[in-house]
Amino acid sequence: MIRVEALTRTYGDLTAVDQVSFEIGTGEIVGLLGHNGAGKTTIMKMLTGYLEPTGGSIEIDGLDINTERQAVQQRIGYLPENDPLYYEMTVIDYLDYAATLHGVPDAERIDRIREAIVKTELSSKATDTIGTLSRGFCQRVGVAQAILHHPRLLILDEPTNGLDPTQVQHMRDLIRVLAEHATVILSTHILQEVQAICSRVIIIHDGRKVLDSTMDELLAGKRLLVAVDAGPERALELLNSVEGIASVEPMAKQGPGHRYVLDLGEEDDPAEAAHIVASRIATEGWKLYALQPERHDLEQIFSEISAQGGS
Ligand code: ATP
Repeated sequence: MIRVEALTRTYGDLTAVDQVSFEIGTGEIVGLLGHNGAGKTTIMKMLTGYLEPTGGSIEIDGLDINTERQAVQQRIGYLPENDPLYYEMTVIDYLDYAATLHGVPDAERIDRIREAIVKTELSSKATDTIGTLSRGFCQRVGVAQAILHHPRLLILDEPTNGLDPTQVQHMRDLIRVLAEHATVILSTHILQEVQAICSRVIIIHDGRKVLDSTMDELLAGKRLLVAVDAGPERALELLNSVEGIASVEPMAKQGPGHRYVLDLGEEDDPAEAAHIVASRIATEGWKLYALQPERHDLEQIFSEISAQGGS
């Protein structure tokens, strides 16, 4: 659905986005993750056709944004970083105005506005003046205007920025619902955000793409953690003999049973290895208290990348 090639943007001497390439398929929820100033907003502005790239290309649904900007923009719903709302307007008047800007046909306008209001749970605020709404509701108005024209691609710049924990939860739930019918790209500098909603993460550091991975691949470790009632004298030999286990280390006791960490071979699948380990433990008649793949911590990955300067 989206193909970005060597995308670059300079501001004077500063290269804000440097040769960034990626492809995003229909239905993905992708997080652009990076510190403040990493280049996320600049990328999003170029994806939405609001900022000219200095170099590189962007194709959305096979359309080149350079030559078919209008057709591309009709496919996109955009929540900019600072919602460009008209604070003196009521929610419903603003959405009516936004529907005109998006070219929603007159005959469909009322239905589309109603639908956007229902989806973003703004019914109780529809006739309120935007300036009187809390930040969370303003963000929802921003999202409502972004979905009026049924975009196939939603680009959300820091959608939970400045929201309180309850509002953050609401926004995440809303994004999940919207993602059922649209591809979503959101930017954030908050790791938990990506972990909570995205299926894939692209990490941007100093304008460059330094990591692009599905969350499953990124977080799944090559180790299994197991807790059984057998001590090392019995367990080490058995666990070491399991196919696909490269080595076994006892861990400090914590909770029920004895705990071990099992290193898998490079090619081995944690789910498959877990299945074999579980059946061997059952055959031995040991009590199995826990068996789980070790998960990497995104925070750790992010700080390692930042410490390396993204190289
Ligand atoms: P934030 O999370 O703070 O919004 P970001 O990752 O979205 O950060 P950008 O806003 O894309 O980052 O900014 C990338 C770099 O480009 C920063 O160093 C910023 O200061 C610079 N920059 C952005 N817009 C302009 C501009 N109009 N003129 C000059 N420099 C700019």
